[in-house]
Amino acid sequence: MTREETTCDVLVLGGGVAGLFILDALARAGFDPLLIEAGRLGTGQTSSSQGILHGGLKYALDGIVGRSSTSIATMPVRWASMLQGTAAPDLSDVGVHSEHCYLWRTTTLGSRLGMIAARSALKAKPRQVDPQERPEVLAACPGSVAVVDETVIDPISLLRSLADRHQSRLLAIDGPDRMTIQVDQPGQVESLQLHDDQRVLVIRPTLVVLAAGSGNQKLLQDAGCSQPAMQRRPLRMGMLRGDLPMLWGHCVDGARTRITVSSATDENGRVVWQVGGQVSEDGATMDHDRFLEHLQSEIRATIPGLDTSGIQWASYMVDRAEESTSGSKRPHQYTINHQSGNMLTCWPTKLVMAPLLADDVVELIMQRLEPGAPAGARGDTFNKWPRPNVAQPPWELQSCWTDDNSAATAR
Ligand SMILES: Cc1cc2nc3c(=O)[nH]c(=O)nc-3n(C[C@H](O)[C@H](O)[C@H](O)COP(=O)(O)OP(=O)(O)OC[C@H]3O[C@@H](n4cnc5c(N)ncnc54)[C@H](O)[C@@H]3O)c2cc1C
Repeated sequence: MTREETTCDVLVLGGGVAGLFILDALARAGFDPLLIEAGRLGTGQTSSSQGILHGGLKYALDGIVGRSSTSIATMPVRWASMLQGTAAPDLSDVGVHSEHCYLWRTTTLGSRLGMIAARSALKAKPRQVDPQERPEVLAACPGSVAVVDETVIDPISLLRSLADRHQSRLLAIDGPDRMTIQVDQPGQVESLQLHDDQRVLVIRPTLVVLAAGSGNQKLLQDAGCSQPAMQRRPLRMGMLRGDLPMLWGHCVDGARTRITVSSATDENGRVVWQVGGQVSEDGATMDHDRFLEHLQSEIRATIPGLDTSGIQWASYMVDRAEESTSGSKRPHQYTINHQSGNMLTCWPTKLVMAPLLADDVVELIMQRLEPGAPAGARGDTFNKWPRPNVAQPPWELQSCWTDDNSAATAR
């Protein structure tokens, strides 16, 4: 068994969108950070994300106007610069699925009111689509169809883009149990030991950033901390694949998006829809068969006339992980908790907020630590330690697909 020790100024735990943005921002600020990933990069939330760079639609529907809606409203412009490669980090190699999302409604009063709320409260106003330019898939939807400037990106290519430029700073372990945290006192991390069957790598960091999504809870426990408390908000996401048109957008109903559809192409060239929104929140309490029935009925109600013959359906469960709020409500902002000791704990709440979260983390770290000289050459164990791969999207992991209507007709 070989054993090697190294130091670093900041150690980031977790390589989803939050951890990778923080790593990149720290490196650009002159720090010498490392990142440990306990599985594949983005496992959990980022690889499941619909990739919509929200400009505040959901806050506008909720009627929330404040710091959260203001900061999210600035994000589309910032992301546009990164995606064009004119602002750091240069994300010009990230896949852009669509430059906008459609907004449409059903015949209910709530749905009409939702469209009005979106029109009046959003900073970037939705624009009505001329009837002849309406996408065919929404042809039978009642009322007007609008577009809103929400770019949709491929989250897997975002993870890859950020990871590729920092390969030498990334370390993979085969599950959280392959890491032991040594603390001097609760929240004061002295060292972390990474181990596999032949090697132990000990890292002595000055500061530690917990950015492990739902994994933060166990990391906090391991570091002897009971705070901050974390909440999980489960979703059952719907998926459709087959001969479908590409569609990105939301069917608005009152203060909610009844369905949110995003599209991609799978490894076999089939179009896949991910369906989130209220349907997936409601689906969290349903089993797979009951959910598919509900999803099919919601799709029929919100996209009348969609031909689903030959379409396959699937679902999967995923938790959104965030700092606890009263009533387990959706937080209005990303959170960074800097408890005593040398740890910061953060949750971005939304993928779109990760750049702002990273700015704030760097600012907080600058108050405690000066960027210094790099740790110098590291040894063989470090240099040969495995680097993490990027997670696959959920539709590539799902093996149980149901043919059209069989879930519904089985009942
Ligand atoms: C279905 C779904 C759709 C969404 N759609 C959107 C959207 O369209 N737009 C938007 O802005 N936001 C969206 N979000 C929210 C967004 O995806 C999340 O806020 C964001 O991805 C969270 O990123 P994260 O890095 O905090 O966590 P994660 O992406 O969950 O990453 C955590 C990482 O930490 C690793 N890890 C866990 N434990 C440990 C450990 N002990 N040590 C080291 N590493 C560990 C995990 O393997 C993982 O790689 C969506 C979320 C979900 C669930």
